[in-house]
Amino acid sequence: MMAQYLDIKADYPDALLFYRMGDFYELFFDDAVAAAEALDIALTKRGKHLGEDIAMCGVPVHSAEGYLLTLIRKGFRVAVCEQLENPAEAKKRGAKSVVKRGVVRLVTPGTLTEESLLEARRHNYLAAIAQIRGEHALAWADISTGALHVMSLAAPRIGPELARLGPSEVLLSDGDDAEFAHLVTEIGASITPIGRSAFDSTGAARRLCALFGVTTMDAFGSFERAEIAAMGAVVEYLEITQKGKLPLLQPPQRENLAGAMQIDAATRRNLELTHALSGGRAGSLLSVIDRTVTAGGARLLERRLSSPSRRLEVIEARQNMIAFAVEQSRFRSDLRDHLRKVPDIDRSLSRLSVDRGGPRDLASLRNALEGAEQICKIMPSGDICAELAELTGDLTGHDTLLDLLDQALIAEPPILTRDGGFIAPGYDGDLDDARQLRDEGRSVIARMQSEYAELAGISALKIKHNNVLGYFVEVTATHAEKMLSAPLNETFRHRQTTANQVRFTTVPLSEMETRILNAGGRALEIEKRLYEGLKQAVLEKAAMLAQTARALAQLDLTAALADLAVDLGWSRPVVDDSRALNIVQGRHPVVEQALRAQGAGPFVANDCDLGTAGDIWLLTGPNMAGKSTFLRQNALIALLAQTGSFVPAKSAHIGLVSQLFSRVGASDDLARGRSTFMVEMVETAAILNQADDRALVILDEIGRGTATYDGLSIAWATLEHLHDVNGCRALFATHYHELTNQADKLGRVGNATVSVKEHGGDVIFLHEVRRGAADRSYGVQVAKLAGLPDAVIERARVVLDALERGEREGGSARKALIDDLPLFSSRPSPAPVKSAPSEIEEAVRGILPDELSPREALALIYELKAKL
Ligand code: ADP
Repeated sequence: MMAQYLDIKADYPDALLFYRMGDFYELFFDDAVAAAEALDIALTKRGKHLGEDIAMCGVPVHSAEGYLLTLIRKGFRVAVCEQLENPAEAKKRGAKSVVKRGVVRLVTPGTLTEESLLEARRHNYLAAIAQIRGEHALAWADISTGALHVMSLAAPRIGPELARLGPSEVLLSDGDDAEFAHLVTEIGASITPIGRSAFDSTGAARRLCALFGVTTMDAFGSFERAEIAAMGAVVEYLEITQKGKLPLLQPPQRENLAGAMQIDAATRRNLELTHALSGGRAGSLLSVIDRTVTAGGARLLERRLSSPSRRLEVIEARQNMIAFAVEQSRFRSDLRDHLRKVPDIDRSLSRLSVDRGGPRDLASLRNALEGAEQICKIMPSGDICAELAELTGDLTGHDTLLDLLDQALIAEPPILTRDGGFIAPGYDGDLDDARQLRDEGRSVIARMQSEYAELAGISALKIKHNNVLGYFVEVTATHAEKMLSAPLNETFRHRQTTANQVRFTTVPLSEMETRILNAGGRALEIEKRLYEGLKQAVLEKAAMLAQTARALAQLDLTAALADLAVDLGWSRPVVDDSRALNIVQGRHPVVEQALRAQGAGPFVANDCDLGTAGDIWLLTGPNMAGKSTFLRQNALIALLAQTGSFVPAKSAHIGLVSQLFSRVGASDDLARGRSTFMVEMVETAAILNQADDRALVILDEIGRGTATYDGLSIAWATLEHLHDVNGCRALFATHYHELTNQADKLGRVGNATVSVKEHGGDVIFLHEVRRGAADRSYGVQVAKLAGLPDAVIERARVVLDALERGEREGGSARKALIDDLPLFSSRPSPAPVKSAPSEIEEAVRGILPDELSPREALALIYELKAKL
């Protein structure tokens, strides 16, 4: 057996080998050590290999899924090795023969299908990066839904696209590991290097044609060679991991960078689109706007949010549907009620296709199709919007399949086929007969029990069943003697004595047992055959089912976004080809909700008007005034508008945004091991090098991470570059008030500030954005609000005073102070000119104290005071 084990293990050096032995998967050697630690289970020993103890641990087969999940989450991959024959067959070959075993599946993060291993509301992507003579392509598949996508892109776009998709596993060609590995690790995905040959475009084309049953891939559009290679690698890997049982993949969809708003990884992080900065999902934009009621709808929302469109017709079609659902509130709530009951078609379909499904998946499909039909019925007739009418068409046409599943299955079938009992009575005559025989047998046995009890004169006599003895007669030990002596010992044959019971069998009982077993076995066999037939019937209609799933997801998302819009007062934005970014009374969806949850004051809505009133707004104002919130809310509104959603504003006019950039100055990024300032500069460089004139750029406190003058100079130059070279729309928040003067010099820069009120030395935040520049920073007041000790606040006021005075007077003392204290100066530095002495100064200078009498001194004071 060890020889067999080592043989198989040699083929899977990078995976833990789950070696099936009876009711357990056993792990040996280093695998056992690693798994025992990861799973926190006992590590034992078994036998010796080359004189050393063999480490071993095991998990029961029936609870293996939970252990698999833990291992996959911890970054392992697992090769599942099953017994391919039953032990009796092996014995026939010879007493010492080992049961045949083989790996039936390699479980990896990107190739999961089980419900328990997947998050229902998220996609689980497997991606591959291919490169052929300097051309790059990215392919990705979600085998749990059958989606397959591919795109050509330049190497620098690979990072941002990976960040958008968030795959759980990425395939790299052996030679390309070094080049792309850091991109993959950065997004937390697992890297799988595979042989270069998997990426060979000729072989890849052959594999793809075979998979889709076409002679040339041109049938699905024209693909670049790198694209074919990337898809080919995905398919090859699926073949390896699924051991030939290829999942149902839909024909590849070619994506095009120009069709979507481009958003890089740092921007996604900053704007907290799908994950909050804290790492979790709570607090992200997605978590706040997700009102979908189906898993498919939730996955669609995440896709749209990760990839807003740049196509006006697409955006408008989505808006039309939402607008319709907003108006028809009754329809909307009915639709949502129905959708709530619709199971996940995509995932059931994919499990069935790789033979990991069961009767419950068939029932899910039946229920989903029934739901789709119901939904079709509640679609308003008459003046319905064209886009919705089209979706409605995709909901129907499943009558034959639905009838079949309806008749064949019971209402709530079990997950597995193993024990049968899922086919409805009346569907198959043979099955009904076999079941009747089996059930009759059971009632015959019940009758036998009373007969035997009477015969023996023991009322407590029972007929029971277990897997070892089958059916047997049982009495308590007190009756043993009676049963073992004549005449009862002619009928009852002794089988077993336990501590308290004695067990017997009889000839009629054994005969009955055989009949029951045969009938039961036959019934199970028939059920399994019928299951295969139903499965085939479903898979033949896979394409249509997938289309219905898509339509349901779109309906769900439409109703969910409409519900959100009505509930929170969102409005339909105008999206067009202009350069406008005109938002009236915009709100930040996440901050607004957080304030509401805390019972804090209302969110103050603010306007933003780029495009007409200058392309760039320079935003100044004290810390905590709401600058970051304002910046982000405008970016989020533009993004939401291009996903086709309504937006949190009274009205909005958005000229298509091609790229969205968001940067925050000097946030700590220790995890990535770069100095904060370096990160800030690298990220800013990326914007300045890439932003085109349709980009929207949000810069928050750029330059904060270094000394004042350096920072100011960098912010200054960045602003000029955005204005002169990039020509994009931008919102630029800064604490360098010196920059506000720039607005006058650069034609398309305007000033805005978040206003505050000062009251008795305290500052009150109004959160109102208005045109103009801030006068001062109120840093000390904010510090006071934050609870800094009074002594520190007082001291700070004195230092600030000194600094401000120093500034007025100029000179090197001020420069030294300012370099060390990153406080900003309140106005542009004037050239250090020495002002003419005042009259009082002249007079004081002329005084000779030694020559004054007390009386004269007093008179002089009166005189000086009068000069003030
Ligand atoms: P800044 O970037 O100027 O330091 P933030 O944007 O981080 O300020 O805002 C600080 C806090 O002020 C936020 O956490 C929020 O609670 C509150 N806030 C910001 N904008 C608004 C607003 N428009 N209405 C109400 N509260 C706001």
